[in-house]
Amino acid sequence: MLSGPSGVGKSTVVAHLRKAHPEVWLSVSATTREPRPGERHGVQYYFVDDKEFDKLVANDELLEWAEFAGNRYGTPRRAVMERLEAGEPVLLEIDLQGARQVRESMPDARLVFLAPPSWDELVRRLTGRGTEAPEVIERRLLAARTELAAEPEFDVTLVNTSVEAVSAELLALLC
Ligand code: 5GP
Repeated sequence: MLSGPSGVGKSTVVAHLRKAHPEVWLSVSATTREPRPGERHGVQYYFVDDKEFDKLVANDELLEWAEFAGNRYGTPRRAVMERLEAGEPVLLEIDLQGARQVRESMPDARLVFLAPPSWDELVRRLTGRGTEAPEVIERRLLAARTELAAEPEFDVTLVNTSVEAVSAELLALLC
């Protein structure tokens, strides 16, 4: 399971890994956040409204879920369980709160923390992405401080100095 502050490059690393290794299965989360330009339903996320998300929670269809920077995100349980039952590796890209929940319910899960090379670099990446309003960036930076402080809870820390190097390290951890 890969976690780490918003803007650190989790999605970029995972996309790079899966381009070379399409067989690596990544869970597609449900979220109430609005799609960013280029994001498609069922690819990056299942984009759902609040009512649909409530239903997923009520029906216990999520392995874990959390509220992050004003939106809710959750991992659909069934797809993950099917892969695990088939003995296939499963990759989750989730926030700290979700990682803690998975650790509780699946003690064997390996928790990988993706850290930025520095705080300034994280601010630069999050700001430079250009997809979020200033107040959204503020909320995400606030969350990032908490996430960075929780790094010792993780089994492995990878520092995102190079996408190529980190995705190779992540692949090695999955196999
Ligand atoms: P973003 O809005 O930038 O796509 O994601 C915001 C944060 O939510 C990121 O840290 C991302 O890893 C996390 N996230 C994405 N999907 C899930 C999920 O299913 N569960 C949890 N707990 N966090 C998620």
